[in-house]
Amino acid sequence: MIKDRYDVVIIGSGPGGLAAAITARQNGAQDVLIIERDLEPGGILLQCIHNGFGVEIFKQDLPGPSYAQRFINEAKSVGVDWLMDTMVLDVTPDRRILAMGKHSGMVEVQAKAVVMAMGCRERTRAQIRLPGARPAGVYTAGTAQRWVNVEGYMPGKQFVILGSGDIGMIMARRLTFEGAKVERVLEIMPYLTGLTRNYVQCLLDNDIPLQLRHTVKRIIGRKRVEAIESVMVDERWQPIPGTEEIIPCDTLLLSVGLIPENELSRKAGVNLDPITGGPFVDDGFQTNVPGIFSAGNVVHVYDLVDWVTEAGRTAGKRAALYAQGKLPPDNKRVQLKAAENVRYVVPHTMNSVSLTEGDVRLQMRVRQPIEEPVWVEVRSGDKLVARKGEPYARPGEMVTMTLTAKHYEDVQHANELTVAVIKR
Ligand SMILES: Cc1cc2nc3c(=O)[nH]c(=O)nc-3n(C[C@H](O)[C@H](O)[C@H](O)COP(=O)(O)OP(=O)(O)OC[C@H]3O[C@@H](n4cnc5c(N)ncnc54)[C@H](O)[C@@H]3O)c2cc1C
Repeated sequence: MIKDRYDVVIIGSGPGGLAAAITARQNGAQDVLIIERDLEPGGILLQCIHNGFGVEIFKQDLPGPSYAQRFINEAKSVGVDWLMDTMVLDVTPDRRILAMGKHSGMVEVQAKAVVMAMGCRERTRAQIRLPGARPAGVYTAGTAQRWVNVEGYMPGKQFVILGSGDIGMIMARRLTFEGAKVERVLEIMPYLTGLTRNYVQCLLDNDIPLQLRHTVKRIIGRKRVEAIESVMVDERWQPIPGTEEIIPCDTLLLSVGLIPENELSRKAGVNLDPITGGPFVDDGFQTNVPGIFSAGNVVHVYDLVDWVTEAGRTAGKRAALYAQGKLPPDNKRVQLKAAENVRYVVPHTMNSVSLTEGDVRLQMRVRQPIEEPVWVEVRSGDKLVARKGEPYARPGEMVTMTLTAKHYEDVQHANELTVAVIKR
């Protein structure tokens, strides 16, 4: 039986939402509710039947559903309420939540704190304006993943994949295992946009060619895709005449980026960062609207699920403290700014007091790949606050930097910290 008042309500039961729910209960929140539009909890992990999950948190290489199940079991054991098959339609700035479901009907609950954990969705053909005919056989890679892994349906026999994102590469391998021919993966950028480990395990190991600086110029076919015309592009992404090639195929999969799902956040008055597509957050993942937190891919697109879980834990803890009136006053916010070769850094602000309670993890993506050793540097003006070395930096792989208690003094005296990733 659902109550009409909760300490913490979590929207979405993916790894971000599950971790937030468990941690909220463990940090004193009495009543915690997860609202999920799907029939089963677990989020996108339920269709990710490949392994690669949990290496950081469990030191084990698990398939997505097994990783999710550990957190579903734990959420059940700590006494979280669930409202499944129910879509949240609206969240107000004072945290009233309106939801609707086939069995639950219209539901309205008041939360002391909310964690937005709605994940992200894939970019479609319309968003990248692919020219050519409009036949059947053009799908996002995640749609194909759901069909093949959950519904047992093969969308085609001969594939071209546009975009070297992780989902596309994972599907290239999956479709090959199911007997399809994956002709090619085309990537418009001069570098891979997904993880190197997926390039090696999914493409190289299965002899699937990757063509960088290439895109789809035209889709050919009336009722069904019959071929695509590929073309090489220059530094400004303009087609280079004479490099066109017709590649016969019956299906084109798109793996061209993910968009954080923030329509609800916007309605609640949450300010969004135009670069990440997610909310501006502090180091506890609180947004500009007091009591509204967010966690997981709704904030920015993570590369590893373990980081999503970690973010969910932080957001769940802070939401529980907020609900109990125990969140320490935000007496001095330090801005975190992206500097040389950093596209964005999350969180956007932090409080030095957080460093007296635990580490603060900064996560960023670089603008350009550097295929030689780099420094990740945090500075306050000219003063170096923290620095660590990495063997390389690539846009497809998140860079992390952890601030600890030893950085407290410097952070306390700073108004702004800049983060850069530069050649060593
Ligand atoms: C195809 C794919 C392959 C991946 N492969 C790997 C991998 O190999 N290794 C790895 O570590 N990571 C991988 N990832 C990344 C990882 O799965 C994601 O980072 C992680 O699942 C994100 O978790 P989340 O909780 O933020 O969102 P999600 O898992 O997307 O969960 C969001 C949940 O919110 C629900 N929801 C949304 N809106 C509403 C609403 N209005 N009302 C109610 N419910 C709502 C959704 O139904 C969903 O269940 C992959 C991701 C994808 C998409």
